[in-house]
Amino acid sequence: MQKKTIRDFAPQGKRVLIRVDFNVPIEDGKVKDDSRIRAAVPTIMYLLDRGAAVVLMSHLGRPKGKVVESMRLRPVAQRLSALLGRPVPITGDPLGIGTRDAVARLKPGQVLMLENLRFHSEEEANDEEYARTLGSYGEVFVNDAFGTAHRAHASTVGVTKYLPAYAGLLMEREIVALSSLLESVAHPFAAVIGGAKVSGKLGVLDNLMDRVDTFLIGGGMANTFLLAQGNSVGKSLLERDLVDDARKILEKADKSGTQIILPADVVVAKEVTRGAEHKTVPVNKIPNSWSAVDIGPQTIEAFTTALEPAKTVFWNGPLGVFEVPTFGDGTRAIARYLAARAESGATVIVGGGDSVAALEEVGLADKMTHISTGGGASLEFLEGRELPGISVLLEREPDPVSASAKKPPKASEKSAAPEKAAAKAEKPKAASAQAAKPAAKPAKAVAK
Ligand code: ADP
Ligand code: MG
Repeated sequence: MQKKTIRDFAPQGKRVLIRVDFNVPIEDGKVKDDSRIRAAVPTIMYLLDRGAAVVLMSHLGRPKGKVVESMRLRPVAQRLSALLGRPVPITGDPLGIGTRDAVARLKPGQVLMLENLRFHSEEEANDEEYARTLGSYGEVFVNDAFGTAHRAHASTVGVTKYLPAYAGLLMEREIVALSSLLESVAHPFAAVIGGAKVSGKLGVLDNLMDRVDTFLIGGGMANTFLLAQGNSVGKSLLERDLVDDARKILEKADKSGTQIILPADVVVAKEVTRGAEHKTVPVNKIPNSWSAVDIGPQTIEAFTTALEPAKTVFWNGPLGVFEVPTFGDGTRAIARYLAARAESGATVIVGGGDSVAALEEVGLADKMTHISTGGGASLEFLEGRELPGISVLLEREPDPVSASAKKPPKASEKSAAPEKAAAKAEKPKAASAQAAKPAAKPAKAVAK
């Protein structure tokens, strides 16, 4: 990775300010899912074990610049304290004399957590004064909050004006896993895209077009594409104003020899609720007043067949309304299939809050190669955009050996393109389109 990490400074005796993503669900004053807290423990322990004093900061929910009692971080601090096996006191406010004193008293091996950063509107406004105060709490800044890296806030971007900024171990894992999809992916590479919001994912389809061999589109996403192909989709979730864009994606895929697999059959329901009447129909027979709520068995079969040769798979977005168990068959079937593929050596990377929740529900999350903790951030990363919270981290000086001898190949250069060409040439249909295929775009260096 080209960013400096916590392995690049000596923690002994330093006060380290860490931005973590402890935006976790809280119910009845208890943390309902602590996976984000657990994900940050390696970075915190690494620093504590090496004699640093650690000041943690996070947001929780959307308090919009006011103190909201139910959004206090106390339950998080309690959970973290149990995980670290040491006390995690929490300040009453991110600002103020009390907080400053508590920070000043902190000794090596001790932890302090600031109260919810978003109790002040200055956090999201990336206010300079607020960032300067946060910066005064440490000598070194570490960002381990990949989930907020796509936001330029005081605690992710502003603070780096005052402190040297390093990536935490979780941030590093995210950058390495996601940039592998853009830079040095093993082909065949398949992307399974589902979920609800076409608008949020068209950019990803577009940026991955020259890198992916096969797109499998399901879930609510698929409806807009099915309509673009001339099917009527009844009452299904739809983004009508994006039908033209969907059509353009289909045309672009055709020209570039990228295979797009859409559902052949879907489960339709009279209402999108538990216990509603439902049946399976081919996609050209979706009844007027029904909604497509899941991919059908033929589609599951087609998807798994297409995924079988894949060496790399990226999955974002459930393939049906999985919150209603009857409409979760497609999502669960693909989850099980991909878990098995990952176990037999394929690289399977999953991003997206709901996709990860679906995996956790069936207990398959830890079977995958990498689960991204950031939904929006992982999508923006794969769109090829620079994430502000990553750009501001210190750059590693190019290592003279790797700079001259092992220059990392760009997607447009030797390794990725011919590999993909070779993979595609095996498919007769794709081979004919190969000639018209433009050179793959170089991977935009997000993770410099
Ligand atoms: P992620 O959080 O993994 O990025 P999204 O937020 O884009 O995924 O989408 C998740 C939502 O998509 C889920 O709440 C699910 O119910 C919904 N969804 C999936 N398929 C359909 C469908 N056919 N119709 C309506 N909603 C759907
Ligand atoms: Mg979501």
